[in-house]
Amino acid sequence: MKRIIGRLNPEDRHVNIWGAGFSGLILGYYLKDQGYSVTIYEKSNKVGGKIQTKKTAHGLAEKAANALFLNQDGIELIRELKLEPIIATKKLKRLILLKGKPRRPFQIKLFTKIALNAYKKPPLISDGLTVADFFEPLIGEENLKNYVSPALGGLYAETAEKLHFKSIFPQVGKRAQLDSYWAFIRMLMKHYKSQPKLETSGSVSFEGGMQTIINRLAEILKKDIKLNSKEPTKLKGNTVICTDAQSAAELLKEARPELSAELERIKYKQLSSTTVFLKREIKSLNKSFGTVIPLNSGFHSIGILNNKAIFPANNPNISSYTFIGHQEVGRKEIVEDILQLSNEITQDDIEHIETTFWDKALPVYDLQLFLAIKKLHQLASKEQNLAIFGNYVAGISLRDMISAAKNFSRNPADYAENP
Ligand SMILES: Cc1cc2nc3c(=O)[nH]c(=O)nc-3n(C[C@H](O)[C@H](O)[C@H](O)COP(=O)(O)OP(=O)(O)OC[C@H]3O[C@@H](n4cnc5c(N)ncnc54)[C@H](O)[C@@H]3O)c2cc1C
Repeated sequence: MKRIIGRLNPEDRHVNIWGAGFSGLILGYYLKDQGYSVTIYEKSNKVGGKIQTKKTAHGLAEKAANALFLNQDGIELIRELKLEPIIATKKLKRLILLKGKPRRPFQIKLFTKIALNAYKKPPLISDGLTVADFFEPLIGEENLKNYVSPALGGLYAETAEKLHFKSIFPQVGKRAQLDSYWAFIRMLMKHYKSQPKLETSGSVSFEGGMQTIINRLAEILKKDIKLNSKEPTKLKGNTVICTDAQSAAELLKEARPELSAELERIKYKQLSSTTVFLKREIKSLNKSFGTVIPLNSGFHSIGILNNKAIFPANNPNISSYTFIGHQEVGRKEIVEDILQLSNEITQDDIEHIETTFWDKALPVYDLQLFLAIKKLHQLASKEQNLAIFGNYVAGISLRDMISAAKNFSRNPADYAENP
């Protein structure tokens, strides 16, 4: 598991947290649970950061995260918070758009390539290796473009050529060379088999959307949150910075210029999230939970979520879909995508559209981020009461952040992990 960078002084039982997005709130929650008192300073006038659910007359529209993918820590958190999860139906599948149609990701062509090339020795696992470098000898350029890039794009919004292999597959650990691709496949299978069996699995949301989890955390921490906070002139006592990397760089500019310079190197991807409410279903998507779309396939969006999977309580006469696109993708482009997906739907079927643009949507998990994180761990190992956390540190998904925050709060002074 990836660790929050830095350490705290356990003799001082108070922690100042900067940022009340999911990372700041979840860390505040677990630290409080361990007997620390916390103050969470938030620059804006609201908590939750990117997680925001808008209630419209037609149903719910998420501005960023649509669901929490469960692990054991996620299950325990939901129970502790006394939340009622809505479990996404397993009947709907994760699909890939190929030749204009959503299809199952595992196609004969892909399997055949894997079977034929699995005996090959993969390239050396160096720091500079990208996901594309690793998989190309196994499955070839076309399969990489059609399957691996869109599948990873659904999580990281980047192509295999950009994504850094060791960051995406931390399971390889410190191994530099694998004997064959079979060894890699076996290693992944062993890793997944070693994970504890979950009583509930898959993705969940809540009746009020993802805002529900934010509201519950904010309720527990209500006396500890200070909205509209000005940047501190000096860092005092135990401090954890829980913002995006660029804001963290700004916060640490004076006090820790070296840390600040590393944080500044971390790049972000711009994205848009558009929820469309339609009078009828897009038939080609009716069996999909989510559909990822290869680049250069003639579509503007890179992924589509079928909201009936997670919002069954929405108006049953309205179908809603969330389209994730690159920054420049807005209403016009999403309507073009819908018309391409269905020749039955017309402009008159569109009831409502909600679009959110995120300038710093997700950190780019590339070599630069890997090197910056490595350096940040080295620099922060000298710190006694400073730590940094957020989705560029411990994983993009909320479930990774839950596990990292829980783990850190149990022993925030320990810095045993060799990054
Ligand atoms: C379109 C989209 C879809 C996604 N879908 C999913 C999904 O389905 N499932 C999932 O698990 N994850 C998903 N994610 C990822 C997840 O939403 C994010 O990783 C997570 O919400 C980020 O939380 P954070 O606390 O790291 O950052 P943020 O949400 O950015 O919070 C940072 C907070 O710090 C505050 N801040 C900044 N500067 C300062 C300062 N100087 N002082 C005080 N406060 C400051 C900000 O105002 C903000 O409130 C998605 C992300 C996007 C963009």
